[in-house]
Formats: sequence, structure tokens, C-alpha cells
Amino acid sequence: MPELPEAETIARELDAALAGEPLGRVVVRRQDMVHGDPRPLARSLRNRRVVRVSRRAKRVVLELEPKAELVFRLGMSGRVTVCSSDAPLERHTHLRIAFGNRTDAKMREIRFCDPRRFGGVWCLAGGAAWVGKSLGDVGPEPLPMRPAQFRAILDRRRQLKALLMDQQMIAGLGNIYCDESLHAAGLHPLRLSHTLDAAESGLLLRSIKSTLRRAIKSNGSTLSDYFRTNGESGSFQARHRVYGREGEPCKGCGAGVLRIVAAGRSTFFCPVCQPGQP
Ligand SMILES: [Zn+2]
Repeated sequence: MPELPEAETIARELDAALAGEPLGRVVVRRQDMVHGDPRPLARSLRNRRVVRVSRRAKRVVLELEPKAELVFRLGMSGRVTVCSSDAPLERHTHLRIAFGNRTDAKMREIRFCDPRRFGGVWCLAGGAAWVGKSLGDVGPEPLPMRPAQFRAILDRRRQLKALLMDQQMIAGLGNIYCDESLHAAGLHPLRLSHTLDAAESGLLLRSIKSTLRRAIKSNGSTLSDYFRTNGESGSFQARHRVYGREGEPCKGCGAGVLRIVAAGRSTFFCPVCQPGQP
């Protein structure tokens, strides 16, 4: 499932391809994947151009002019690709938006494809009327977070894994980057968050930031559903120290990686690097 580094990779690649470009023909192939502005999407997007593409939490945001936003929530298996308009259509492609100068011999388009349909597209064009699902609020971003703000988030009685996975508390972390960050900080995933001292809390925040930055440099982790906008894989999965590696040697110390269920999710950790039970 795409997390912050995967959404960031997609946003950066889309920004390189789309910034300044006018939007063209819109084809909605599954209406129930489009939410927000109740007008037909083609009408909401007509005569708009892309100013830039950014990321918020695990979402990819097309900032448009005249002012509007088109938000892609990737869910479990959402993919946004950029290809030629005549490229063969993949199964589960729910939306196609052409972009660029109409006099171009070869039009290009953005495609949104989501086999499991937990994701969606939100058109925020300023009207009060709304159709479909709410986009929902998310908590603060981890990369610009200050140590004091992080301390305040930890100051409750919750297991670290569950707290870091909670999008209302801190946005963008999912199963992979929680496990990798906790390993980097040497903290057991079931440790209660309020028991961390200032040094541990500081180390955990630094570990989260460095893990995310390294993953962004590697264009994210491709395990099953995530691909870059050109269809290529990310490469951070080769550098996972514990995630998805039950029984294999920890890349820190060589001990066997264990798997438990925490916050309802498979959780991987090293019993030597991350000692202690709560
Ligand atoms: Zn270890």
C-alpha cells in the first residue's frame, strides 16, 4: 500500500510532467470513484491548468488554476500513471485526463487505476455542494515536525505501532515505514508511547525522518501494487531492514526477524535491536 514516500514520488514525477500544462479531455469510467464537486468532472476541470503537483499525507494533490484542487487518494492499490493517449488501457482504469497543448501530434494523459477501489479522486472546486465520500482530515506531516510537537503526540498511553499508524496523529506513515523507523530507533513496536524519555523520542523522530527521506530517494518500495508514474518499480524494498523479512537475519545485528500482529497489522521487528516488552 502506498505510504508517504510512494505518494511523494508520484507527486514529484507528476509535477515534472504536468506543471503549467492545460487539462484536456476527461473520461470517467467509474463514476463512484469520483467525489467532491457534484458537476461532471469534465465540466469542473474545463479550462483549468495545472499550477503544480504536491503531496499531503499519502495523497497526491494537483493544484489547478483557476483555483481548484484534484486530490488522488491512493488507498490500498491506487496508481497514477502518465502515458500516451493511445497506450493500451489497463484493467481497473477508472479515470483518464488528457493534458498538454491540443495541437500536439501525440496527446498524453494521466490515468488513475485502482483494482481494490479503496482510493478515489476528489475534485475540490470551491462549491459547497458535494457528492460521494468525504476526503477526511489528516494529522501533521512528519518531515517538518518539531521535537516538541512529536513529544506532545507521544504523550498518551498507546502502543507505538498503533500510534504511528494513526493518520489523525501523524500523517503518511503506514506499515512499512512504521516498522523500519521503529527498528532504526531501536524501539519495540508494542512499547507504550508515553514511556519514551526525551532522548528516545528525539531519536524516534529523527529515525522516521531519515527513513522517509531514504525511501523517497529510492522512489519508494514496490511490494505488490505500487508503481511509479512511468510503470517502473521503486527500489527501497531491497533496503528494508525488517519489514517483510520474518525469519531472515536483521540487517543490523543478524538475529532472526520476528513477526507479530500489532494494531491489527503484521509487524516486523528484531528482538535484539528492539528489546523489551511493554
Ligand atoms: Zn537486529
